[in-house]
Amino acid sequence: MTTLPRTASGERAAALAPQLTAWRRHLHANPEVGFHEVQTSAYIAAELGKLAHLEISRPSETSVLAVLKGQKPGQTVLLRADIDALPITEENSFEFVSKNQGVMHACGHDGHTAILLGVAKLLSETPEEVSGEIRMIFQHAEEIGPGGAEELVRDTPLMDGVDVVTGLHLSSQLPTGVVAIKPGAFMAAPDMFEITIRGRGGHAAHPEEAVDPIAVGAQVVTNLQHIVSRGVSALDNLVVSVTYFQAGTTHNVIPDRAELMGTVRSFDPELRQRAPKLIERVLKGVTEAHGATYTLKYEMGYRPVINTDWVADKLMTIAQAEVGEHAQLAKPSMGGEDFSAYLTKAPGAYFNVGSGNALLESDYPHHHPRFTLDEESLVTGVRMLHAAALALGQG
Ligand SMILES: [Zn+2]
Ligand SMILES: [Zn+2]
Repeated sequence: MTTLPRTASGERAAALAPQLTAWRRHLHANPEVGFHEVQTSAYIAAELGKLAHLEISRPSETSVLAVLKGQKPGQTVLLRADIDALPITEENSFEFVSKNQGVMHACGHDGHTAILLGVAKLLSETPEEVSGEIRMIFQHAEEIGPGGAEELVRDTPLMDGVDVVTGLHLSSQLPTGVVAIKPGAFMAAPDMFEITIRGRGGHAAHPEEAVDPIAVGAQVVTNLQHIVSRGVSALDNLVVSVTYFQAGTTHNVIPDRAELMGTVRSFDPELRQRAPKLIERVLKGVTEAHGATYTLKYEMGYRPVINTDWVADKLMTIAQAEVGEHAQLAKPSMGGEDFSAYLTKAPGAYFNVGSGNALLESDYPHHHPRFTLDEESLVTGVRMLHAAALALGQG
């Protein structure tokens, strides 16, 4: 890596590196899934309790809020880290591997939590430098729809008076040290569907007496691909993926039903509303053509993350000051994020910090059983978020 610009945030974040690693490794070894972050939230609250000048509260059972009131007037800024893990059995072999069988920090939320603890520590050491009010939310249940953010925004006063919100996601798909930011559409709306195709079961030797839901289901899967390739402009972003196809029990019986599931990803609200109609049209036509029937259950997931232009621009300026040429324009992602819930209440922007390093094998995709972080990325995260808190607080 080339030398980075020297800044106060940069130097203070670098000095925090051993502590960031210790926090992250403790969290990594003790993962808990969404809505069950009991030990995790207790640990966060205990670590925050060691710091001065913070008001610590529990907006929901397993989330933690730390508020720092700066000594200069300014804006109210919300910084967000998600804290939950995934139901995945870890396949890493380092000494801080998950102690909770079948649960793993495979998305980097252990890193997000360590980063926000680090930012809380730096801010709490110098309240005289801080303008406005910095709220730091350690949010539960990002990985489980409808998500912890939705609950906090709907049921608590967390967002009351917030002027601007930001947060970051580490990315194993970007090299360590890169900060990637983008105005506008950044992450997709992740919607899901479940389809049941009902035919008529029978003997496999006499398909003419049955209505084969597997043959019909296969046609449905093929025809759903036409929605994206033939039904939507190449300039619009849409993904339709069938991810589950279950039918039958043995080799000589035609079953009476097939179950399919999948996901639809989009940014544009109009296209998002149109997608289920396009799916239903295919489903209706194909099943009718072959004498089968269907049911479609369609569920809207998180809203898309659409970054506010001025906030993204400001973060880009901060990134250029902090990491120089490692500041990049991000590409939009078809992944989803419940960070979008905060953006219904205040302007804001979400961004990525790279944690991928082939030498450390920290470039496995997110949600992979071998996922891990290059811990150098924690320093970059603190540096960015600390600088952002100070700048956004000034307004
Ligand atoms: Zn994830
Ligand atoms: Zn995540």
